[in-house]
Amino acid sequence: MAIGLKVYPELCHGCGNCVIACPVNSARSPEIAGGKGPTDDVEIIMIVEDGEINLKNPDLCGKCGTCVESCPVDAITLEDL
Ligand code: SF4
Ligand code: SF4
Repeated sequence: MAIGLKVYPELCHGCGNCVIACPVNSARSPEIAGGKGPTDDVEIIMIVEDGEINLKNPDLCGKCGTCVESCPVDAITLEDL
């Protein structure tokens, strides 16, 4: 069974910590490391939309766990899919 990224939007309060902390997101869009959204249409793993986390491109995830550690409410996890 594979481990993969899973989000629980109902738990998310939209802080954006996970989006900013993800090294893949920052590598693809350096603006994200500064707390801004991507300035072009580059694809990132997840984004906050309407106050909730939304997985866009989970296949890009390197499964490092940084986003999981950054979330204060356990709304993003790595778990069996
Ligand atoms: S596990 Fe790592 S690579 Fe995957 S979304 Fe989280 S921070 Fe990004
Ligand atoms: S999943 Fe967690 S860290 Fe990411 S935006 Fe939601 S509350 Fe913040």
